[in-house]
Amino acid sequence: MNDPVLVINCGSSSIKYALVPAAADQPRLTGLAERLGSDDARLKGTDARGESFTRPLGRADHVQALTAILEGLEGHRPGAVGHRVVHGGEHFTRAALIDDEVVATLEATSALAPLHNPANLQGIAATRALFPELPQVAVFDTAFHQSLPPRAYRYALPEALYRDYGIRRYGFHGTSHAYVSARADALAGHSGGWLTAHLGNGCSTAAVWEGRSLDTSMGLTPLEGLVMGTRSGDVDPGLHAHLARQLGWELEKIDRVLNRESGLLGLSGLTNDMRELEAAADAGHAGAALAVEVFCYRIAKSLAALSCALPRLDGILFTGGIGENSPAVREKVVALLPHFGLALDPTANRETIRGREGRIDTLTPNRPALWVIPTDEEGRIADETRQLLGETPR
Ligand code: ADP
Repeated sequence: MNDPVLVINCGSSSIKYALVPAAADQPRLTGLAERLGSDDARLKGTDARGESFTRPLGRADHVQALTAILEGLEGHRPGAVGHRVVHGGEHFTRAALIDDEVVATLEATSALAPLHNPANLQGIAATRALFPELPQVAVFDTAFHQSLPPRAYRYALPEALYRDYGIRRYGFHGTSHAYVSARADALAGHSGGWLTAHLGNGCSTAAVWEGRSLDTSMGLTPLEGLVMGTRSGDVDPGLHAHLARQLGWELEKIDRVLNRESGLLGLSGLTNDMRELEAAADAGHAGAALAVEVFCYRIAKSLAALSCALPRLDGILFTGGIGENSPAVREKVVALLPHFGLALDPTANRETIRGREGRIDTLTPNRPALWVIPTDEEGRIADETRQLLGETPR
């Protein structure tokens, strides 16, 4: 299929979109409809000339916002829609062509991702109603990690909780880990063993061997694992009971504090933005310095733990807003893994920022490589959509 793919990431009050042409050198039209359902709903985007625009949308809902998005595509008609869907449970091990049965399965999976899947389903319903003639594909954040072996995905809990309620580790950010590890295979010229670190507002690591995810830091929900912008990552599982008993906190409050008020924001007492934290730490703010230190230590600890999943370590891949742009974080993480035999090239590390792809190690033979690979989740969703449609007779 040579038509562009419209990639949609639908939240409860926002729709992020990208029109991804088949040829990699063609420009993408991208944008965000936000504050949907409120009086100041608006559409922000970039047109074909690279100019940005903002348009008020009144009190637009998802259907009205999608109509406005399509009108804003300047006559470009997508040939298919690729939806980012957060949770595919155990049912979806790869992308799926959306039909009534897939929607029903996703509805049944929503209990596993109550904050995300209902919004994704809302976007799918609106898009199917508006463009019934277009094939629609669901691409799941969890699907890439369905190759985890039981030793990595099972919690040490009573078996019935897994069997009857699907309580296990699923992992997220799969499209990003899949993209950067496939890219590293291509750049290295061979399929290898990679530790990937996706460091954005949400953060996760993965161990990828010959294109298959063998372990990852997120679990049943995206709260497990690394310290993130506002999420705590791993805490003692006894914390919930402690907060409830000692402070009388309700479950809703515990959930909110761990998801929205913790992480870099909670530790620093300042912000969840790594740029601001690095500047504040340099200026002597103790909370900011501690937040960066804990953040980096936990990344290194996670990478070291996940290395157990790999028969061989060919390299570490950094991606996401922080992974792609913060030489200081990368340097600190590498310094915490001396036994891996890594050799960082300080100049390459400093210069590989703002969307540049490249190796940041000294290229010494027999040492694991260090790569910065800007992620491209939209491109990967478009590719998976095309690939599936290419295989599906219509
Ligand atoms: P999301 O997970 O929402 O897609 P991003 O991948 O864009 O987020 O990552 C956002 C994070 O990247 C923020 O913490 C931001 O401060 C950080 N970041 C962006 N640019 C830089 C930079 N130059 N130096 C350090 N951190 C940066």
